[in-house]
Amino acid sequence: MDNNSEYLHPEFETLSVSEIRDLQLKRLKDTVKHCMNSEFYRKRFQEAGITPDDIKTLDDLKKIPFTTKQDLRDTYPFGMASIPLKDCVRLHSSSGTTGNPTVILHSQKDLDEWANAVARCLWMVGLRPEDVFQNSSGYGMFTGGLGFQYGAERLGMLTVPAAAGNSLRQIKFITDFGTTAIHAIPSYVTRLKEVMDQQGVDPQRDTKLKTLVIGAEPHSEEQRKRIEKMMGVKAYNSFGMSEMCGPGVAFECKEQNGLHIWEDYYIVEIVDPETLEPVPEGEIGEMVLTTLNREAMPLLRYRTRDLTRILGHDCPCGRHHVRLDRMKGRSDDMIVLRGVNIFPIQIEKILMQFKELSTNYLITLTTDGDNDNMTVEVELEELFTDDYSRLEKLTKDITRALKDEILLTPRVKLVAKGTLPVSEGKAVRVVDKRKVYE
Ligand code: ADP
Ligand code: ZN
Repeated sequence: MDNNSEYLHPEFETLSVSEIRDLQLKRLKDTVKHCMNSEFYRKRFQEAGITPDDIKTLDDLKKIPFTTKQDLRDTYPFGMASIPLKDCVRLHSSSGTTGNPTVILHSQKDLDEWANAVARCLWMVGLRPEDVFQNSSGYGMFTGGLGFQYGAERLGMLTVPAAAGNSLRQIKFITDFGTTAIHAIPSYVTRLKEVMDQQGVDPQRDTKLKTLVIGAEPHSEEQRKRIEKMMGVKAYNSFGMSEMCGPGVAFECKEQNGLHIWEDYYIVEIVDPETLEPVPEGEIGEMVLTTLNREAMPLLRYRTRDLTRILGHDCPCGRHHVRLDRMKGRSDDMIVLRGVNIFPIQIEKILMQFKELSTNYLITLTTDGDNDNMTVEVELEELFTDDYSRLEKLTKDITRALKDEILLTPRVKLVAKGTLPVSEGKAVRVVDKRKVYE
């Protein structure tokens, strides 16, 4: 490792677009051949009337049918594997709120490549073996735990598996161990700062923190800026999903101008979620990913449900791996209220523009009489509840700004800091209590 190099894997990170495409085609052909070891894909290819030999160019990818989360459920637990189970060394599983959970299998090579990908991301934002990395994210099945653990160790950092929650202990670790970098979900960073405030710990004065890695849940640019300001650090957006290993799929570089998705690991397509046809470059659509170096469970044209768009191929950092816009959310997160489509992130973006508000909010949907309504509860940054006219004006201003964005008038309720429920894992932003008419 050359500490002075901007790149951990220059041989991959600095490839030109055409070199990336050549590598992708080679890896795609290998992956497709390897997939024929999987009962699922063998059948899929037969049904589609194609063989691996039909994949001669990157464009031929379109001949391959999509893989969906439902396919993972239907083949639960091991029906997708492309290697014998005895050669797998790790299993991750999603919660599966409806029906079967999903299972993702890894070989030792998969885990090594995953650690390399995460290490590459962390190096890209300036972390070096001298850094102390505290992983304040859930461990266990949640891939943000082990994924960052192995990646940070691979980079050579002293890595603290602090896990999520227990903020007092987190703060003690940060100060005692000289933590310089933290990975956490954005909603947890806010909580951590609240406890720091209560303890009289000033992150800039009392800690060595300089870098945060935030991800695993949608958050707006405004929320990132809030987090950077309150912690006095740089906060980089990290995107990952269990089906693609976990963290390390796409990550911002120091330019903070979108997330580079590692195209030596994945082929990205952005499609219209209805027609499944590619959208013109730069337009928002559903991200579809094909893995290029997975051994245990490669996935071809996996529909992620995440909505984003391609920002560009060039970047001042010298990497040409395509840059993605921050995720707008999953298509399943979209709220449809009185026929209007709304993403929670749109609401967050507006709320974060009001400096009086904290980053905690909850959207509740209810049916009142014949109408479906939205209530937005948001915590105040400070308490100034005795000044009723000011609160009333603030509520009105927020309501108006929200209406301009989402075209519906929500009820806005300002609540005291620390009163909204906190979830252990990813933040729950929407509670739908609407009546369902059969
Ligand atoms: P689960 O499917 O149980 O939520 P995952 O950890 O696999 O577990 O979640 C992956 C999903 O989390 C992604 O598909 C995406 O919707 C969301 N996600 C992950 N990172 C980000 C990010 N940086 N910004 C927005 N959404 C993200
Ligand atoms: Zn860059």
